[in-house]
Amino acid sequence: MTDSSGYFWKMLMFILIATVPVGIVAVWLLNDDKIEINTVLLLVLAAALPAYFLYNRLVKEILVVLGKMEKAVQSPTMESDDVTNARDGFLPVNDLLLMMQQYRRALRRMLVEAKSRQDDATMLFEMLPDPILVLDEKRRVSQANAAAHNFFGAETIEGDLTSYLRHPNLLKAVDAAYKGQEVSDRVEFRMSDVVTRHVAAYVVSLDGEEEEDKRLIITLHDLTASKKMAQMRVDFVANASHELRTPLAILVGALETLMGPARDDKQAHERFFAMMQAQSSRMSQLIDDLLSLSQIEINEHSRPSDTVNLADVVQGVTDLIRTRACDLGKTISIDLPAQPALIAGDSDQLSQVFTNLIDNGLKYSKPNSEVRVSILADGKEARVAIKDSGEGIEESHLPRLTERFYRVDSDRSRELGGTGLGLAIVKHIVSRHRGQLEIESVVGEGSTFTVKLPINS
Ligand code: ADP
Repeated sequence: MTDSSGYFWKMLMFILIATVPVGIVAVWLLNDDKIEINTVLLLVLAAALPAYFLYNRLVKEILVVLGKMEKAVQSPTMESDDVTNARDGFLPVNDLLLMMQQYRRALRRMLVEAKSRQDDATMLFEMLPDPILVLDEKRRVSQANAAAHNFFGAETIEGDLTSYLRHPNLLKAVDAAYKGQEVSDRVEFRMSDVVTRHVAAYVVSLDGEEEEDKRLIITLHDLTASKKMAQMRVDFVANASHELRTPLAILVGALETLMGPARDDKQAHERFFAMMQAQSSRMSQLIDDLLSLSQIEINEHSRPSDTVNLADVVQGVTDLIRTRACDLGKTISIDLPAQPALIAGDSDQLSQVFTNLIDNGLKYSKPNSEVRVSILADGKEARVAIKDSGEGIEESHLPRLTERFYRVDSDRSRELGGTGLGLAIVKHIVSRHRGQLEIESVVGEGSTFTVKLPINS
């Protein structure tokens, strides 16, 4: 109603503007008796009628332009451009529409470009391997990438930061960043949930238009694995030096005795020479094991490609080790599979695996017992199980047995000529073959070490 009355008054104004000058001239002529009142009315009407039609025509043309503009605004990225098929009238409608079309194309290009940039940024944010949290001005998590969901084990991450991270040093750094204070942007701390994790957090502020719009980005870097590796390296060097130092000290001591007080004691010579030989072979065994371990680690990523029959490898190993078994008063038995178990493998490394496992079976089993080696194979997997009837291993030790230098009883292992590296070597070779080592043990009954390897299809 208001619209149509507004339209009416505007039209009236337009008609008045067109007719008033004609009316003034006509009234002036009427006063001079040059024309009559009828002629005055006719002149005013002659001016008002074209003004009425002109006004309506202009309004119609403007409405057409507005209609097209509205359509373009509603779908700025739509491809179709039908803006030029309007008819030209009193106004340069087509020129106007053409200009609008150019603006629209430029705008569309900008929008498409902005959208693709936003898509790239979102993808990058999601793909970043480190967990990232974006905090709003009230310290609430507004965005979190896939790595963050993984890190916190949560499908949704929302609410205050302290629901996820509450280390005082980090919160201090976050508060300082909100206040725009200069502090170290790297905070290192430990998180103790189910497992303890070492984390480095980087806090960066994103300045908004207003001071209150300040947002923060927290990037987390999980240092647990690298810290563990560094610790392992330190432990490894300490353990290896310790293992070498003991036999070396015995050797030096024996030499000093032979060169000093026992110089002329023939009986002592024999005892000390035997001791020196045992300690030298212990050192040489340790160095051999260390070298093979590092050699295996170098190649661990490349899976062997030769085809190996597991039965042949196991048979070869038992033939060599049988004499040692006899010396210890023990026997080795083998159960071979009906079908040859063919796998992709390195036969020298696999021999080392079975030598170490059978040798452990002989070393840690009861006197006069038997070590049983059985090979089973189905279409997918071959299993070689080495079962002894020894003292067994307590469950708490099982997860750590394949660590370098880990022994249940160090003195016993050294006495039996062990280096503490045998199972570590086994683990790395089996993992190079994309297999698994399974350990089952019952204290007082014995242990079974099973090597599972994928069959060569
Ligand atoms: P080691 O040279 O000491 O035998 P390994 O790495 O081969 O080193 O084995 C690590 C430890 O695991 C051994 O010291 C021993 O305590 C335990 N172990 C390995 N095999 C057996 C087994 N068959 N029975 C009982 N304990 C075993």
